[in-house]
This record gives sequence, structure tokens and C-alpha cells, in this order.
Amino acid sequence: MTLIDAYGRPLLNLRISLTKPCNLRCVYCHAEGEEDKNSGIEMTAEEVVRISRIAVNLGITRIKLTGGEPLLRKDILEIVSGLSSIRGLEDLSMTTNGTLLAPLAHELKKCGLNRVNISLPTIDGDVYCKLTGGRLEDALEGVKAAVDAGLHPVKINMLILKDVNDSQVPAMLNFAREVGAILQLIELEPVNISPQYYMTYHKSLDEYEEMLRRRAIKVESRKFMQNRHVYHLPDVKVEVVHPIENTDFCMHCTRMRVTSDGKLKPCLMRADNLVDVLTPMRQGASDEELAKLFVFANQQRKPFNMA
Ligand code: SAM
Repeated sequence: MTLIDAYGRPLLNLRISLTKPCNLRCVYCHAEGEEDKNSGIEMTAEEVVRISRIAVNLGITRIKLTGGEPLLRKDILEIVSGLSSIRGLEDLSMTTNGTLLAPLAHELKKCGLNRVNISLPTIDGDVYCKLTGGRLEDALEGVKAAVDAGLHPVKINMLILKDVNDSQVPAMLNFAREVGAILQLIELEPVNISPQYYMTYHKSLDEYEEMLRRRAIKVESRKFMQNRHVYHLPDVKVEVVHPIENTDFCMHCTRMRVTSDGKLKPCLMRADNLVDVLTPMRQGASDEELAKLFVFANQQRKPFNMA
């Protein structure tokens, strides 16, 4: 079975925040739309796996782990093992800043993680440090380890910021080509950042899409991933995440989020329609009762540009 929302959109993807804390301080971070204050509640490994199993029984086929920084979870290998053993789950991936990945990459692969996205807004060490507070070398080691471990395809998430890193796309293309990764260009979204920050640093990705279209030998649309475009250049692939003023993006959304404190979040952009599953679970709700909460949350899904 697959859950379909009121706009005909299937629910296929779950994006689970495993924790709020992060070891970096990225100035642009949307924190997956979670509120700033920490509720102090975090799902256990067992709870993450149970919620995911219920979701897969309802038709979810792909799970992405996020945060905060998911690799800060001491039980990350247990979580990945538990999730990868869910029958019916076709794709298990993680988005990470990569700085803690090097010693874990092979183990994560062994435990069943299929692939990773590594956030890397630049390969200029000074700019990296200013944007994230971290050391570029640590992230680069993480990229190398992910490639070596076969967490394939490795995607490099490059969030574009006007007059900060927007001139570095060619350098990032070369880097992705050299390491054998896909470059993913991401548009800044106005979530958990100030309107002033957004106005100053937001840049439309149209000019990159035009350049990529000219150079591509093939262009794909990922229908069940917000109709994102993937540009196949002769020796490297580039995916573009272009949500702003793009009705197509929301109309092809197939995603639900789970916050680190166990709430189903139907839309990154909204904080007024969350559905708590962790509290009922801790109070003894059955799988059937929890599945009904998923069905209810799915009914709350609405393309943001129509909200
Ligand atoms: N710490 C992990 C990481 O760095 O990948 C997971 C959390 S981070 C919030 C997940 C992804 O969100 C990253 O790829 C990052 O580039 C993206 N991101 C963060 N803030 C964003 C924003 N304001 N707009 C769009 N994407 C953003």
C-alpha cells in the first residue's frame, strides 16, 4: 500500500532527525525546521526503528537520517543496523557534515547504510571555517572515507550563498569529478534564519540550471523527489534542489519528516501541523494506533505554495 495525500502525492520518503545537537555551527542552518529550543527528548534507537517499520508498512521505501549531526549519536550503528533490516525499505541514506565520518564510514556501510550526502559549501578552508566553525580537512577526510567505503553515490551538498561561495561552483564541480561524487546545488530556504540573512544571501539557482542545461548530455527529472533536475555532464552529475518560487517542487513532494523528539512533520516550512507519535508510543499505543497517526499526518500534507 502507499498513502496518497489530498493532492494526489504519494508518501514515499521519511526524513528522520536523530538528534538536535551538532558539532558545527553553520550560519545558514535550517535545523530541518525544528524549533530552536531543545525539548530534551530524543527517540531511542528502538523507537526510531519502530516508527520506521510502521512507515515502511504504510508504503515508505526510502529513509534519510539527518539532524543535528546524526553521527553524534553514540548508537548510530545500532540505528542503521535496525533500519537496514526492515523488509521493504529500498534506500537508507544519511546527510552528515562528514567531519566525524572517516572512522565510521566502513562500519556504517557494513551495517546497511546505502549512501551519504555530505554537506560541503566550499573547498576553501577559510570560507569553510567562517561558514561552519569546522575544519575543512575533517570534512574532506569524511568524503574520501565515504567513497572508499562504497557509500555510493556520495553526494556533495553545496548550499549556495550569494557573494560567499557562489563563484566556487566550477571548483566544486572539479572536486566532485575528482572524487567521483555527485554535486548537489541547494538553494537557501528561509527557515530558522533571519529575513535579513535570507535577503542578503539568497540566490536563485536559475543561472546554474541554464549553464548546466547547455553543458549536459542528458537531463533527468526525479519525479518522486520534487521533480528535481539531474544534469549529466560528460564526466560528473549535478543535481539541483530549487524549492523557492517553484510550484513543481512542492507538487512532487513525497516526503514526511520525523523530528528528533518524535513528531511527524508534514512540511519543512510549517511548524503548526506536527503530529506527536513518540508520546503515544511511550504511553503504550499499538502499531495500529501509531499507523493511524501517520495516516492523519499524511492528510495534513499540503503543497506549501498553496498553504
Ligand atoms: N548535520 C547534517 C549535515 O550537515 O548534513 C544534517 C543536518 S543539515 C540541516 C541537512 C542539510 O540541510 C544539509 O545538506 C544542508 O546543506 C541543508 N541546509 C541547512 N540549512 C539550509 C537552509 N537554510 N536552506 C537549505 N538547505 C539547508
